[in-house]
Amino acid sequence: AKRQGVTICKGHKNYELMLNLQLGIRHSVGRPAPTKSLKLKPTAFDTQQKLWTKFPPEGSKHTPPHQSCDFRWKDYCPLVFRTLRKLFNVDPADYMLSICGNDALRELSSPGKSGSFFYLTHDDKYMIKTMKKSEVKVLKRMLPAYYDHVKTFENTLVTKFFGLHCVKLSGPIQKKVRFVIMGNLLCTEVPIHRRYDLKGSSHGRITDKPETEIDANTTLKDLDLKFIFRLRKDWFQEFCSQVNKDCDFLEQERIMDYSLLVGISFQDGSREASEGVPEPESPGSAPRLSTDGDAVLNPARWASIRLGINMPARVEVTVRSHETQLVGDPTQEFSDVILFFGIIDILQDYDISKKLEHAYKSFQYDSTSISAVDPRLYSKRFRDFMFRVFADDS
Ligand code: ATP
Ligand code: CA
Ligand code: CA
Repeated sequence: AKRQGVTICKGHKNYELMLNLQLGIRHSVGRPAPTKSLKLKPTAFDTQQKLWTKFPPEGSKHTPPHQSCDFRWKDYCPLVFRTLRKLFNVDPADYMLSICGNDALRELSSPGKSGSFFYLTHDDKYMIKTMKKSEVKVLKRMLPAYYDHVKTFENTLVTKFFGLHCVKLSGPIQKKVRFVIMGNLLCTEVPIHRRYDLKGSSHGRITDKPETEIDANTTLKDLDLKFIFRLRKDWFQEFCSQVNKDCDFLEQERIMDYSLLVGISFQDGSREASEGVPEPESPGSAPRLSTDGDAVLNPARWASIRLGINMPARVEVTVRSHETQLVGDPTQEFSDVILFFGIIDILQDYDISKKLEHAYKSFQYDSTSISAVDPRLYSKRFRDFMFRVFADDS
């Protein structure tokens, strides 16, 4: 499959920023620090301390000489993120190699509307997203609860965060770039054929691309979805229970605007990434879990499959009777797939701008169809939708 994004080489407008980021990460991660325990003292979450590290090009006592511009680096709650990486089983050396190795990062052509930039590491394992100041504020605020949540629920679907940093460019402009490092949900050996960003709202939730331009890298939305995801019964139950816990957490943190990102890999072999809806199987046929070469589909391995990653499933084709209908009617046409999914974009709180957006869009549209709603409503609508597009395999 075609790799996503543009490699950031010398001459790219963000080349120096990438170098700064890599220098900073190497500095932060490479530093020896005690992380024996997963228990954190409340002071670890203290964000008041202003810890800027100077990175002069000529080098300093604590930083190496470098080829980039003069900058400062800030690491937010380093001990918390160090502990999170440990909790998520990220080896520090591998982490550094992924982000700071000799291979350049790739810049994605801004997949969201928010103006954030996205970068992928060369091995596709990590996604780096630039953040608004308000998003940093939200993450800092919810970090203790987030830490608690991901520690308690091993199967949580919420985005894994590995680091939160800021680069301040020296000189007259003093531009600040904040970014978060997270796991790439769709980092897989198997090819992803379709990806969906699902919220459970309908207004504007359709791709603006013509059908012929839709490919594996297009992010499709709620109204583009023509499938029901059918999971093995016990996984479906696990899925529902985890979505409930994750939504409770997000609701408590007053978060909204998040989505379930779903990547689909069709297992029917014949299918090319450019094809549209998969061809139907005979109605009512049993799930075919092929074993050809792919250990993921081997029942012996099912026990070790983590929720949301490498999940063998079937998709059932649906038909929508109205344009605005969110979940179409099942057709009993099935395809074997492997699913990848998780909850992303969890740093938007219901702030004044979202309340205003809700107010003015409510004049024009059905207020339950727009994305910007109160976190309680948001979470309810999100779950209702997920429990309709996901179902058990019967
Ligand atoms: P907006 O607020 O307009 O929705 P945004 O800039 O906040 O946009 P996100 O919603 O976080 O951006 O992400 C945009 C797209 O990037 C997602 O739809 C998804 O395709 C991809 N993406 C984001 N986070 C991840 C992740 N952790 N793993 C894989 N893909 C991701
Ligand atoms: Ca989003
Ligand atoms: Ca967003």
